Amino acid sequence: LQDKLNKAIKTLKGQGRITEINVAATIKEVRRALTDADVNYKVAKDITDRIRDKALDRKVLISVEPGQLFVKIVQEELTELMGGEAQGINVKGDPAVVLIAGLQGSGKTTFSGKLASHLKRQGRNVLLVAADIYRPAAIDQLKVLGEQVGVEVYSEPENKNAVQIAQNAISQARKTGKKIVIVDTAGRLAVDEAMMQEIEAVKRAISPTETLFVVDSMTGQDAVNTAKTFNERLDFDGVVLTKLDGDARGGAALSIKTVVNKPIKFISTGEKMEALDVFYPDRMASRILGMGDVISLVERAQQAFDEEEAKRINAKMRKNQFDFDDFLSQLQQIKKMGNVKDLLGMIPGMGKMIKDLDIDNDSFKPIEAIISSMTPKERQRPDIIDGSRKKRIAAGSGTNITQVNNLLKQFDEMRKMMKKMNTMQASGKLNKMMK
Ligand code: GDP
Ligand code: MG
Repeated sequence: LQDKLNKAIKTLKGQGRITEINVAATIKEVRRALTDADVNYKVAKDITDRIRDKALDRKVLISVEPGQLFVKIVQEELTELMGGEAQGINVKGDPAVVLIAGLQGSGKTTFSGKLASHLKRQGRNVLLVAADIYRPAAIDQLKVLGEQVGVEVYSEPENKNAVQIAQNAISQARKTGKKIVIVDTAGRLAVDEAMMQEIEAVKRAISPTETLFVVDSMTGQDAVNTAKTFNERLDFDGVVLTKLDGDARGGAALSIKTVVNKPIKFISTGEKMEALDVFYPDRMASRILGMGDVISLVERAQQAFDEEEAKRINAKMRKNQFDFDDFLSQLQQIKKMGNVKDLLGMIPGMGKMIKDLDIDNDSFKPIEAIISSMTPKERQRPDIIDGSRKKRIAAGSGTNITQVNNLLKQFDEMRKMMKKMNTMQASGKLNKMMK
């Protein structure tokens, strides 16, 4: 019997209708947080579907701290989706060639300088190459950055052939013993065929060790489409997400990783040459979810759910349809608010009176057990509970007939009371009384 009781309580706490809705509400909140952070809707949906399955699978709601376990699952899932571990770039080769591609203004030139500085600090001998042939200012920009970080810059201001410039730079690197060549290229404001053909030609000619696609995190959903196009044409090795010092929540990281399935390798968080970071999926997961603020998401979902449930039950009370299911739901709400004795103790003068009384959350257990041993029909229409049904309920819940009778009696009185109040309210008596 004890076994059965335990099982009933577990069912109550765990897998009933109510908790299913709770998960659904929380999932909805998480999905909204993701789309707010610029995660593509379809990606967000796939992710939250997975999280829901995991949450139900790991029995989040019967765990000691459902909120925390839930948060852990969300974090884990996002981290895993973004590649789990941080991934560096491959700079093996003699020389190793890194090709930088992306739209105009995405931060290619800035990143090239940063990467050169980063590698130089690791003791590498680096050459920067200005292969942006369309804007004379672009060459100067790279030269300034090169000077700043102490890395030589290769350029041919008169040459209008990006492929040739890149090839010449690599021969020069071989001659002068440079071990890593970083090729900064031209971008356009939007994807266009001429640009794609040029960057494809450069790639074919120099067979880079590593091709990195640079994308502005502030461009949100567009970043995903751009990444997709560049990946189809260039089959790049990794992504650099820039301008993360702004308001962007970084959802682009998640969408891009999911859609093109290439790792994000670096993030850029400012215009200064030091503002380059290796990409850490777990940190980005926190950022996307609002700096680890998922707990409040869970709480908000819970609250919204509680309010809806209260409204629903209120409506049923008014229509005299209050049944044992509603009663059970109310009991659980009260329990969620904390220890019953503590709650009562907050009423002035009550503390002393209840000091020796044996009220705690466990006092509800027999009641919960009795209700859960009722069939759905019995919960809705307790008047059908006759002698043999009572016997069955008592046995199933590990209680006795007297306890079952008491609960039925109390419930009946409660319903009569509600009905009375409803009729009084309807005839306006209650309003008069209150005045
Ligand atoms: P490119 O056209 O792709 O070569 O882009 P640039 O490197 O010239 O960068 C375009 C603008 O964005 C410049 O004003 C940079 O200073 C700025 N920028 C680049 N990366 C970052 C970053 O991570 N954060 C911020 N705030 N600005 C950046
Ligand atoms: Mg540039």
